[in-house]
Amino acid sequence: MTHTHSEELFRRAQEIIPGGVNSPVRAFRSVGGKPVFIARGQGSHIFDVDGNEYIDYVGSWGPLLLGHRHPAILEALERALSIGTSFGAPTAQEVELAEAICDAVPSIEMVRLVNSGTEATMSAIRVARGFTGRDLIVKFEGCYHGHVDSLLVKAGSGLATLGIADTQGVPKAFCDTTIALPFNSPEAAEAAFRTHGDRIAAVIVEPVVGNMGCVPPLPGYLQFLRDVTHRYGALLILDEVMTGFRVAFGGAQQRYGITPDLTTLGKVIGGGLPVGAYGGRKDIMSKVAPLGPVYQAGTLSGNPLAVAAGLAMLRHLKAHPEIYNQLETRAAALCAAVPAGVTVNRVGAMFTFFFHPGPVTDWESAKVSDTARFGRFFRAMLDRGVYMAPSQFEAAFLSAAHTDEDIGKTVAAAAEAFQQKD
Ligand SMILES: *Cc1c(COP(=O)(O)O)cnc(C)c1O
Repeated sequence: MTHTHSEELFRRAQEIIPGGVNSPVRAFRSVGGKPVFIARGQGSHIFDVDGNEYIDYVGSWGPLLLGHRHPAILEALERALSIGTSFGAPTAQEVELAEAICDAVPSIEMVRLVNSGTEATMSAIRVARGFTGRDLIVKFEGCYHGHVDSLLVKAGSGLATLGIADTQGVPKAFCDTTIALPFNSPEAAEAAFRTHGDRIAAVIVEPVVGNMGCVPPLPGYLQFLRDVTHRYGALLILDEVMTGFRVAFGGAQQRYGITPDLTTLGKVIGGGLPVGAYGGRKDIMSKVAPLGPVYQAGTLSGNPLAVAAGLAMLRHLKAHPEIYNQLETRAAALCAAVPAGVTVNRVGAMFTFFFHPGPVTDWESAKVSDTARFGRFFRAMLDRGVYMAPSQFEAAFLSAAHTDEDIGKTVAAAAEAFQQKD
């Protein structure tokens, strides 16, 4: 496998783009080697600019639940293109996407569309603060909620990958509004509420963490968060940017039977285009301008192309509920055989192989993974035509386009890659 065209593009990119990439983890820093530049994708496969083919388990970091270039989404985009790319005025499809979201996720009675997951979480905590009149936000170590200033405290994803504990450029006063606690510890949350309960506006949590690698909630933990927030008059925000429409059609809140006050969405709801959303209880969302005093806006929010792709995605998923059973079966097959010393965490179509005996239940237990061994595994998989996220602290994503043949090839490649010594 040669990568000469990718290497040349990376050289040029590094001259003029910080690190050569438009989002940090793409740079392959933590796994060694250089990023491959992608030329195109089709179904479960991607092709790089040197003509190499890979089975893709990144899926654009979550959005591509139906794989690359799904016909339903292409068709919706073509229709949208023939009408116009942006109006900055309301369109029928925005109403239909909002209805589709509220229909799939019953805790969302009212919803606002934005352009990214970051915007969704940033706006959700603003509404939570406006609604409660309180300033503090509780988050969990290793959870990532986008690059919102006050949520970059002990965050996962790229910060975990690059070993950046707390980013520079965020005023200390912002960080002082954030309480970061260990995930899966009811005791820690109870103690924080005992001390600061009347000042906490909201708890924001990834109901299944994807951004320190895949870490499921322990039994009863999400219900505990529901109860403790309720007891203290704080809001529960489930950040389902990754899990929404992935771990179940109605997201993790459907899978675990939890009713949050607010939900944030992104990734899958854009069908591969930039869409985010935040929504929830009507009395809370009624605080959002122009209905209420909490301001939030966006020039390209509800963009016709993005909304068309998202709506096509949600309609296809609703019409094909069997997709979720298929994903479950295939993902289970993929995760069935791991060697001793490796822990596999999986929920539905998201999973992580941790190079650590486990169990991995929080950031403390995730971060001790053998990242050098993960790097060898990652490179060996890439050499064998399997493209995984280039970090130990990310989830892998299966799409409905992955076939049994893809799974078989991946399992065979992994059997060799797990043994990689150099
Ligand atoms: C990806 C992600 C975000 C940020 O979304 P962007 O679209 O990258 O801004 C927020 N929360 C979670 C849980 C995510 O996985």
